[in-house]
Amino acid sequence: MRLLFVGVSHRKGEKKMKYRKLGNTGLFVSEIAFGTIPVLQGSIPVLPDYFNLSEEEALLVMERAFSLGCNLYDTAIVPEYGDAEPKLGEFAKRIGRERIVISDKARFYDGNELYQAVYTSCENLGTYADLYFVHQVDAEHEEAVFQKGGGLDALTELKAEGKIRFAGLASHYYDILLRGAKDARVDVLQGSGNLLERGMLDRIRKEPLFLEKGLLINKVYAAGLLPKFFPVQTLIRFVLSYPISSALIGLGTVEQVQAAMAEPEKVKEPSLKELSFLEVLSVLGKSYTEAPISCDRCQCCSCPYGTDISTVFRQHHYFFLGKDHWALKKLALGIEESAERCRRCVEMPCLEQCPGRLRIPDEIKRVAKLVQQHRFYSGIKYSSPEKSIIS
Ligand code: SF4
Ligand code: SF4
Repeated sequence: MRLLFVGVSHRKGEKKMKYRKLGNTGLFVSEIAFGTIPVLQGSIPVLPDYFNLSEEEALLVMERAFSLGCNLYDTAIVPEYGDAEPKLGEFAKRIGRERIVISDKARFYDGNELYQAVYTSCENLGTYADLYFVHQVDAEHEEAVFQKGGGLDALTELKAEGKIRFAGLASHYYDILLRGAKDARVDVLQGSGNLLERGMLDRIRKEPLFLEKGLLINKVYAAGLLPKFFPVQTLIRFVLSYPISSALIGLGTVEQVQAAMAEPEKVKEPSLKELSFLEVLSVLGKSYTEAPISCDRCQCCSCPYGTDISTVFRQHHYFFLGKDHWALKKLALGIEESAERCRRCVEMPCLEQCPGRLRIPDEIKRVAKLVQQHRFYSGIKYSSPEKSIIS
């Protein structure tokens, strides 16, 4: 079956897509972008829900988004997002390449490796990528990306060759995004944030440097957890209240596309005041069996001994919000050691850094205790299973 693609087709009463400037690229992108993880086919255990769609099924979902005004589609190199990349390439071919903006990415940090990866991606797509991100940059890989001959230099070279139009940097870490915002080689940034994990968005709003770059925000549904508690329109509206270019939503069915891009709020719209962090925590807190940790992932804290504090607290949230096994597995990789370090820590610099004055070491010990309580029936292997962490 070949698809018959149509133009923007809103039905009466449907929400209309709006467009925003993508930094200084000269592009205007739909404020809701299509994330292609859910349309992939393959076995990618680390990824959240996806629907194992055939190519034709995937193209129909993408086409529905296009018909509602979506013009920005985000993917990643094979096999990171399974076969989503060639599916998007096929979609671009059928819809008309110039009618959409393709955003692609790969987790290669060294310049030579990223350069090769972009060539592979372009082959998979059958075309150039408009935006290409060096993906998931963290502290371990930061220098490899920014240094001479690193990932960003490779993207600059690929721009000159016409393989990509704009260079991007994607990270879950504020300090790395800020470094990208200061770097002339970077055109577009991709970060994460949502109603619960809003601290980074709040910091971005206060920093004018981010206005110079296009900014895409992913994890709007918090790995699919928040729609159980809030309407998707509320989640999207919240993220779009920040100075960003586009909210990136993973979409795998026509119904999901419709819910994100076409349906007006069905309930009385909550005001932003009603969506304050504490209000949100009190809604979510009903599914916790102990007090939620009131961390909004602002990342103002840092641990000189290596604990990724905000990620530990994120997994605590995710444990109670429905990703219990997944969160436990991640926490089990180092929570005992983190709790032990907190026990020995004298200066505790993190305490001064937290705007919310969280008792960070106490909370880390509480998370460690939770993990140990669940080790007996979770079947998860722990980094040092013989050691007791309950004190
Ligand atoms: S108290 Fe714990 S988290 Fe805070 S700085 Fe010390 S070791 Fe790191
Ligand atoms: S613990 Fe405090 S400083 Fe650290 S990320 Fe959470 S809210 Fe921010």
